[in-house]
Amino acid sequence: MLSETVTALGGLKTAFDVAKALISAKSDSERLAAIADLQAALIDIQHQTLALQAAMAELQDEAITLRRSNETLQRRSTDLSRYQLVKFDETGAAAYRLRPEHVGGDEIDHYLCPNCYQKGEKSILQEDGRSLFCPSCAMRIYIRKQRPLRPSHRLV
Ligand SMILES: [Zn+2]
Repeated sequence: MLSETVTALGGLKTAFDVAKALISAKSDSERLAAIADLQAALIDIQHQTLALQAAMAELQDEAITLRRSNETLQRRSTDLSRYQLVKFDETGAAAYRLRPEHVGGDEIDHYLCPNCYQKGEKSILQEDGRSLFCPSCAMRIYIRKQRPLRPSHRLV
């Protein structure tokens, strides 16, 4: 965009210089030559204007894409801020839990994977007995210690 702008300004300066030459022309042949130069300069300006418009359209598309991306990131950040990191007392493992003030209505109490959370992704952990399992990254978080096995019969 900057190079297109510099080129367009250079074309304008050329046209201005040619116009000055036209004004100070002393004969018809000088005026005709200056008019031809001015027409050529104006055609160049038209081309440069088109290039400038194309560059501007590209920048506008890029701005729209960045604006949408920013909105998506802000929505995601707002959503993730509704969770807090909690520790499971029995194992010391941690996961992100929906803050109590957001539980209710359409939202049930649940946990997010801390690994995915750190990447800005939301993955709801699934309970699997004594652990929580992340379906996205396969991380397993143990929330209960394994109980010692009870013998089914006593040895005498
Ligand atoms: Zn995960």
